[in-house]
Amino acid sequence: MFWDKEWETLSRAELEQWQLRRLRSTVQHVARHVPFYQQKCAERGLGARAILSLKDIRRLPFTTREDLRATYPFGLLAVDRADVIRLHTSSGTTGKPKAMFFSKKDVAGAADLIARCLVMTGVGRGDVLQNMMTYGLFTGALVMHYGAEKVGLMVIPAGPGNSERQCLLMQDFRTTVFHTTPSYALYLAQFLKERGIDPRRDLSLRKAYIGAEPYSDETRRKIESALGVKVYNSYGLSEMNGPGVAFECEHQQGMHLWEDHFLIEIVDPATGNPVPDGEEGEMVLTTLRREAMPILRYRTRDITSVIRTPCPCGRTHRRIRRITGRADDMLIVRGVNLYPQQIERVLMSLPAVGHSYQIHLEGLDELIVKVELADASFDGRVEHLVNLQREIVERLRADLLVKPRVELLPPGSLPVSEGKAKRVFDKRIL
Ligand code: AMP
Ligand code: ZN
Repeated sequence: MFWDKEWETLSRAELEQWQLRRLRSTVQHVARHVPFYQQKCAERGLGARAILSLKDIRRLPFTTREDLRATYPFGLLAVDRADVIRLHTSSGTTGKPKAMFFSKKDVAGAADLIARCLVMTGVGRGDVLQNMMTYGLFTGALVMHYGAEKVGLMVIPAGPGNSERQCLLMQDFRTTVFHTTPSYALYLAQFLKERGIDPRRDLSLRKAYIGAEPYSDETRRKIESALGVKVYNSYGLSEMNGPGVAFECEHQQGMHLWEDHFLIEIVDPATGNPVPDGEEGEMVLTTLRREAMPILRYRTRDITSVIRTPCPCGRTHRRIRRITGRADDMLIVRGVNLYPQQIERVLMSLPAVGHSYQIHLEGLDELIVKVELADASFDGRVEHLVNLQREIVERLRADLLVKPRVELLPPGSLPVSEGKAKRVFDKRIL
């Protein structure tokens, strides 16, 4: 099923021609209207005519998160303020926010991409989407909302949290699809279990769109088996509209990145140089259709790689692999590089582990992993706990090459956050 078959199956040659044309006009647009890019291009002696092929994108300057903050609030706006119909800001946990502007065309374009994503996963009119992302300045909920309405789903703008109410809505309005973060999906699964609600028996859920934070295949499987849904990985970032940048199709082998809207590069996060085709690195994205706030070569900090083989679904837009982590999330513990997701993968593959965990770094270089149990019935069965703890330590050590201290906690001990979960607490002295 396609929302827009013509665009979704454009031949590679046509797609690349379109990209080149759009890249050139985007450069022209920002060079005319955005002093930040004017200056950057002038420093490099670049004009739109400098872009003769897609490879020439490498001559353009990168845009970083810091650039967005430094130019806050209006520095990257490329249209008249009267042409902006919506503002979003990033959910950034630290420092100044980043402002994102949408023109009428941008709002429609973002909704259109969501429409492609939803139809691609086999939902449509008659489906009921419970949108549990945060409404407001964050792009996560609103962009999904508009796209889902465009397709004709019934949208329940539930927002995050308040699990009691989420359950009620799911039951009363027969929710078939929901959209949330992996951490909240796991929490919800636990919540339903504690209330004696069996999703397969008592609810009508079919599919879940899970994104906004990195998660592993193990977490996907845990959500799928606990909630009886098929989980689709949904990737996006506020700087590039929000959700709908890349999404899994029914084959669920990587996420199609909509290449008529975004030009993708994968670079070495340290040097910014391109990595060999198909290899892992930092994803860099350039907007190709945005009007109010086009961004050239945005350093996402997200680590992934491009799948080079065509997808059996027939879409020609290339797929990216699951994000393995953010360049900024890498931890160095006793000289070893590790990503929080490696820990998550091990924990979520163990049925005795519940939905939540935290990673603490303390003292000189001590790694402490706090893990919630799936079931309170472990209480009192000391030998089980000791064995489980030993197993987790061993599995983590084998995977990370660092031996952690593992603390087991009863279900519900760790706080549940309403947006993105905070998992890592680095309180090291050095
Ligand atoms: P925000 O701008 O607040 O929407 O956050 C965007 C960031 O969330 C991305 O740059 C990624 O680091 C992360 N993110 C969003 N979706 C996913 C996903 N499906 N898998 C991994 N990370 C994700
Ligand atoms: Zn596909």
